[in-house]
Amino acid sequence: MTSVPETATTAIADLRRRLNMLSDLGNATALLHWDMETQMPPDAARVRGLQMASLDGLRHELFTGAETRSLLMAAEAQGQRGETQGSELEADLLRVTRRDFDKATKLPTHFVEALSQAQSDAHHAWIQARAGNDFAHFAPFLERILGLKRQYTELMGYQDHPYDALLDDYEPGIKTAQVRAIFADLRERTLPLLRRIVAAGDAGDYTVLTRLFPAQAQREVSLRIAAEAFGLLPGFSRLDVSAHPFQTNFSADDLRITTRFDEHYFPMSLFGTWHETGHAMYEHGVGRDLERTPLSSGASLGVHESQSRLFENLLGRSRAFWQRYFPEVAAAAPEMAAGQSAESIYRAVNRVQPSLIRVEADEVTYNFHIMLRFEIELELIEGKLEVAGLPAAWNARMQEYLGVTPPSDTEGVLQDIHWSSGLMGYFPTYSLGNLLSAQLMEAARREPAIAAEIDRAEYGLLREWLRVNVHQYGRRRTPGQIAEEATGQPLNADAYVKYLEGKYGDIYRLE
Ligand code: ZN
Repeated sequence: MTSVPETATTAIADLRRRLNMLSDLGNATALLHWDMETQMPPDAARVRGLQMASLDGLRHELFTGAETRSLLMAAEAQGQRGETQGSELEADLLRVTRRDFDKATKLPTHFVEALSQAQSDAHHAWIQARAGNDFAHFAPFLERILGLKRQYTELMGYQDHPYDALLDDYEPGIKTAQVRAIFADLRERTLPLLRRIVAAGDAGDYTVLTRLFPAQAQREVSLRIAAEAFGLLPGFSRLDVSAHPFQTNFSADDLRITTRFDEHYFPMSLFGTWHETGHAMYEHGVGRDLERTPLSSGASLGVHESQSRLFENLLGRSRAFWQRYFPEVAAAAPEMAAGQSAESIYRAVNRVQPSLIRVEADEVTYNFHIMLRFEIELELIEGKLEVAGLPAAWNARMQEYLGVTPPSDTEGVLQDIHWSSGLMGYFPTYSLGNLLSAQLMEAARREPAIAAEIDRAEYGLLREWLRVNVHQYGRRRTPGQIAEEATGQPLNADAYVKYLEGKYGDIYRLE
């Protein structure tokens, strides 16, 4: 037995053991968070916050500390000497761990504390400002966040544009210039479509959406379809109720999704549940050889969103889907379904309507909400827009893109939690996910057997295609690599624009 491979194995194995432990700590915190949102009695929030902060702090300390550094350097040194027997997985693990480590150690402690304090203050101010429609109350806190975010971009470093450093936290490798170009193309091609849809008027009877659909029936039927159509089985998942729906998971076989019910607006829970199912099935498809390592989660927020949108919209809001599942949904909600058909429900759930609130937006208008936020964030970071000018800039763009003007800042610039939590560079990932969902769907449909199944609302082959081309890699591939390798093209707006034109041209009978 030669000693070289043995020591090589040892260095990587030692690092991996440490990463496993850090992953366990992270999942313990995630479990506390899930419990907080779904089960915990409300008065327990204060101590729970402290408990989560302790665990998070401990994990950060252990990850950025001297021992992880020396384990990582030893493993890298052996990798460079070619002693890791060229395992691609080991190379990927070293690369991603190094990326995470460098990012985590670039920020001085005093900066992390200042940002965390500013976020906490801004969050409280935002809640008050939103409740009282008082942007001026929030403005100085946002000013502080913005200053720190500018500092953040300098500490992290960037090549072309400071906003690159913000994007990179959520969408590794993507550049501001690329997002700008993709969005410009998307805007140019979908704004005329939106105008034509609005001019065409109603394409269905939308009152069905607010008819009674009991919560328990919503829950049962949405889960049954999530299992049958999308593969979300109770053996490795559960659904709970929370104020803000989300997906989390503690391993690839322990998936938690949440939803909320409105008995007089069933799309919220049905499409919400299928959306979170898309996120969950992504995590379920990550290779088991990546378990308890930094590689074992989705590649980025955008790729994640591509999976949730694909299930929620491209499948769940398709005509074939409703032709297949209308009888089942109707049996669960006879009062809602009285006098309805697959086609009438299909039209109702695909209503296009320019509106004020992003989270309620349809497939056509949604991206305009995102483009507006992206443009404003860029101007703020570049110093072209002052915080005081935000409401006016917001309202002007709402009018330009969607033809509506918020009657209050509460329904305008104050509606999202993101900026108050220091999340800048985050919004674009929602639209990038929308675009990627259509691009992946188009690529999958090039295989005739997959297309034939999808047209019958059967998704077994599609799910397997997604597992092989997207899910299994976890973070081993960047979002850019996933788009290129799965679809043969870099991420772009073509497939999404084509999808919208085809679908809504038909529903609204556009010439
Ligand atoms: Zn999502």
